[in-house]
Amino acid sequence: MLYENTTVKNGRLQFAGRDTVKLAEKYGTPLYLMDEAKLRANCRTYVNAMAEHFEKAIPLYASKALSCKRIYEIVAEEGMGADVVSAGELYIAKKANFPMEKIFFHGNSKPESEIEYAVECGIGYFVIDNPEELDAVNDIAGRHSVKQKAILRLTPGIDPHTFAAVSTGKVDSKFGVAIATGQAEEFLKAALSKENIEVCGYHAHVGSQVFESTVFYDEADIMIEFVARMREKLGYTAGIVNLGGGYGVRYTESDPHVDIADELRKVSEHIKSACEKYDVPMPCVIVEPGRSIVANAGMTLYTVQAVKNIPEYKNYVLIDGGMTDNPRYALYRSSYTVMLANKADKAGELEYTIGGRCCESGDMIQENVKLPTPEKGDTLAVLTTGAYNYSMSSNYNAVPRPPIVMVDGENDYVAVRRETFEDLAARDM
Ligand SMILES: *Cc1c(COP(=O)(O)O)cnc(C)c1O
Repeated sequence: MLYENTTVKNGRLQFAGRDTVKLAEKYGTPLYLMDEAKLRANCRTYVNAMAEHFEKAIPLYASKALSCKRIYEIVAEEGMGADVVSAGELYIAKKANFPMEKIFFHGNSKPESEIEYAVECGIGYFVIDNPEELDAVNDIAGRHSVKQKAILRLTPGIDPHTFAAVSTGKVDSKFGVAIATGQAEEFLKAALSKENIEVCGYHAHVGSQVFESTVFYDEADIMIEFVARMREKLGYTAGIVNLGGGYGVRYTESDPHVDIADELRKVSEHIKSACEKYDVPMPCVIVEPGRSIVANAGMTLYTVQAVKNIPEYKNYVLIDGGMTDNPRYALYRSSYTVMLANKADKAGELEYTIGGRCCESGDMIQENVKLPTPEKGDTLAVLTTGAYNYSMSSNYNAVPRPPIVMVDGENDYVAVRRETFEDLAARDM
């Protein structure tokens, strides 16, 4: 099995030690499940490794991966801060009583109204993306008589060799300001001249679903070199270096394992030697994992509605969800492990395309999946759906979003209830 929280018992798929078919019966489908123990363990991996290997460090949860009140509560309990990328995420975090001083506000195109809201909330740090935002944050902070802490988003010029849509650190990225073009230096100069901004350091993020730490070594080298160069040129020594998120998770058996604790140890050694080389003090190091916190703590269950065999062409298993609850295959052709939860001990026979219920041919969850003979009423499980599923879900075809049910030992509870038809029409005038 992909993860130790996924096993088979009496022919049925178990998740966090619980019978998935029974959970599907209890809560209905489609259904997002989250394994609370796994989620907490993932947080602790980062919190403990950062504490062990760095003098000063802040692990942040990148909440765009999955943003709901319960997740913010758990992440805060485990001692992490959080990234938000919109006032909406910030609002949910605030509703969960997340400590505002541990919030970092990302985004390459922040509306001024959202900047204002974040300043009013008293968030810890802005991650300022561009000169226009710099001016806006300075003005708004001034109006509220605060000196706003901020770090600057830089583009290190690294291609992590992942899918183009999840690669963000190249020079031509829409995120941040490039080091290679000299623009980052000008950006820093401007930031240092702002009366109402306290520049605390730099941020970069190279991409997502990254399996090789060498990408982070390269990134750290470029950042530390920039710290040293700016100290030389402008007399400014950055106190924070934020390396972003991005460690990959296993969606299928062919994906490699990442030993995150060990990787963080190696990254710390790398940063230490870079600091020695350039003779700069070790900064406070931040990492911001999203996917590797929530992805493998999640699973989605569906009910098979129909099976279509088109001889010599294709076989379909049609389910009661699809791109509305998981658009990642439609967007990126993302791989997933798919199983029939009630036939989990049976060998696969034919290959099937998992088709969603929406009026789009592209509405698929996966293609060419080997399954034991499927029938109407089977429970279909898609593994590793904790990240970028609920947070990317939509109401296309006016399909209500599934609930998120947390599984915690013997206990299970609703963290986000299922959307109702009333919810769907609630804003219509
Ligand atoms: C998306 C993102 C993350 C989280 O990335 P994961 O691949 O989910 O770990 C962290 N930081 C920034 C700036 C991001 O855009």
